Amino acid sequence: MKVIKTIKEMKELAFQARGTGKIIAFVPTMGFFHEGHLSLMREGRRRGDLLIVSLFVNPTQFSPNEDFKNYPRDFERDRKMVEEVGTDILFAPEAVEMYPLDHQTIVRVEKVTQNLCGKSRPIHFQGVTTVVMMLFEIVMPHVAIFGEKDYQQLVTVQQMVRDLHMSVEVVGMPTVREADGLAMSSRNTYLLPEERKAALSLYRSLQKAKELLQKGERKADRVLHEMKGILQSDPLVRIDYVQICDAYTLQDVDSIDRDVVVALAAYLGKTRLIDNLVYRKPLKSKPSHR
Ligand code: AMP
Repeated sequence: MKVIKTIKEMKELAFQARGTGKIIAFVPTMGFFHEGHLSLMREGRRRGDLLIVSLFVNPTQFSPNEDFKNYPRDFERDRKMVEEVGTDILFAPEAVEMYPLDHQTIVRVEKVTQNLCGKSRPIHFQGVTTVVMMLFEIVMPHVAIFGEKDYQQLVTVQQMVRDLHMSVEVVGMPTVREADGLAMSSRNTYLLPEERKAALSLYRSLQKAKELLQKGERKADRVLHEMKGILQSDPLVRIDYVQICDAYTLQDVDSIDRDVVVALAAYLGKTRLIDNLVYRKPLKSKPSHR
């Protein structure tokens, strides 16, 4: 595996690979890898001839009061892990090269970024789309793999790619969970033991939602009421939001009559965790003609 630090070298290699007809698969990350990241890389390995993983803790997607400085980092550990899944190139640029002093362009996707996390993290998604746009330009992927764990991010990147007629396929992969159900996240390392235990109620509330939906409940407020009951019964959990939205527009729905995402964000101490459940409308079975 090759570690590349400069944009120039990365572009040259990507250009060469494209020239020889290789399919480039790309997994953008902020590092501190866990099985969730590795599942995306394995999918990338399956889809591409050349697998490129980027590791860049992107400063512009953090607000000043957020955890950019403390975000967990361990380059050596990450390097070994990406190598083990068969990555060809680990691209780890420096922030000063990505954002030179006179940088002044941002990419902002309008509607799908307003709701959910966009409310409490107003500049987050423009940071994400700006850096993803740059990374796509540098890495020139045919296919890019993202996790459904960050569902709004996935929808936002797909919207950007459609709106700007970009030539990359954006693929979403299911959320990988710990054995007890907690969604894997680099931020889980911040949790104190009692917060880690309490964090399970996020998963429990989503399981409750799933159960209600499978039983035929179609009123969003009833599902949300049950979910909030579970989350509020734990004194260590502070809800940021719990919402049920159209799976594509990310606008709230009252009635669950289409594909939806049940999404939540909550604080455990200072740590903000997100999780979601995508519920697709069951297809109507055809009547049998006997
Ligand atoms: P991050 O390093 O947190 O920016 O995440 C990099 C990519 O990994 C994003 O596309 C995330 O959605 C994805 N990801 C993070 N956690 C998980 C998980 N538990 N399961 C699947 N994908 C994940």
